[in-house]
Amino acid sequence: MLFYVTIVGKTGIFMKQSLKIESIVDPLLQWYDSHARILPWRDHPDPYAIWISEIMLQQTRVEAVIPYFDRWMKAFPDLAALAAASEDEVLKLWEGLGYYSRARNILKAARLVMGNHGGSLPASYEELRSLPGIGEYTAGSIGSIAFQLPVPCVDGNVMRVVARLTANPTDIGTAAAKKLVTEQIREIIPKDRPGDFNQAMMELGATVCLPNGLPKCEICPVSHLCEARRQNRMTEFPVKSGKPPRKIEQKTVLVLLDETVQPPKTALLKRPPSGLLAGLWEYPNIEGSLSEEKVRQILDSYGMQIFSLLKLQESKHIFTHVEWHMTGYLASVRPSGGAAELPGVRWVCIDELNERFALPAAFKTYNQILRRYKESRNERHE
Ligand code: SF4
Repeated sequence: MLFYVTIVGKTGIFMKQSLKIESIVDPLLQWYDSHARILPWRDHPDPYAIWISEIMLQQTRVEAVIPYFDRWMKAFPDLAALAAASEDEVLKLWEGLGYYSRARNILKAARLVMGNHGGSLPASYEELRSLPGIGEYTAGSIGSIAFQLPVPCVDGNVMRVVARLTANPTDIGTAAAKKLVTEQIREIIPKDRPGDFNQAMMELGATVCLPNGLPKCEICPVSHLCEARRQNRMTEFPVKSGKPPRKIEQKTVLVLLDETVQPPKTALLKRPPSGLLAGLWEYPNIEGSLSEEKVRQILDSYGMQIFSLLKLQESKHIFTHVEWHMTGYLASVRPSGGAAELPGVRWVCIDELNERFALPAAFKTYNQILRRYKESRNERHE
């Protein structure tokens, strides 16, 4: 396939230059054969392990995924074990990885596969694509790696590599750019090694043609074919339009401690079943950055007796589209236990907090405070 790239000549006139994009296939595969990283999921060539690793790798770095993948495969070694698990167990194992809808969709898909596909992931792109949480990219990666289907998988890494190889000035955030790259890959993907080719493209993007700063062109197996390199304009590609700024939400987080019981308990609430961090546990929190006086009024309105109230350090958590700016309070209280009780509250022993309840990383500052409290309490009792 001849792919035309538009370049600006010395005269400032736009010229067309052709790049045979299929010529990247052989050098890329040769490079992959000798440079592929040793990763735990590459030791598990079964579709189930490939699926789990691909979902975990969405939006998450390889180094962060490895311990999660290992723990997951020990807890749920196959699809049947996963399908029999509860959502709380699955979310607990996912705790800290973020984008929790991925974990919930894995569980939904596992149960569907047990019911509709005899317990094995389907070996067809369309059927994979129909499962919860499996989009075009993931269906392409599972299909090509696990079932050797010649289907593309195009993510941000692949978009970046192709944009540089072809010096393409199109904004890679557009649907048109994605469609174009997907079609380019579909045309050149080798029928005998589709999974290796897709992984080689991803590997090149993750380890050589890096997103920030200068790519490592000196060790790139396709540098002799790269138009951005030829023009010495590597950092100008890919072209991306600016993202809208994230919305900032102020919150007041209440770490409530009931020390009138032993061991002490803390209050948790379950988030709604849909939306951000759906179904996860959280500390009670209120919109806005509230004063100590206002917090006292609120606790009072829930019939709590307040023994002490301490303002905690501010903390911030960044999601894709929103930032939480949090003001925290640690309050030692006696719950009312009556009709005035905080709706939906669950008072949980602080000793079992970390073992049984999945709390999102957004609350890690407050988890650490409770952990330190627990440690100092244990030391006092030794
Ligand atoms: Fe990326 Fe450089 Fe390789 Fe081009 S030569 S694909 S810019 S690493």
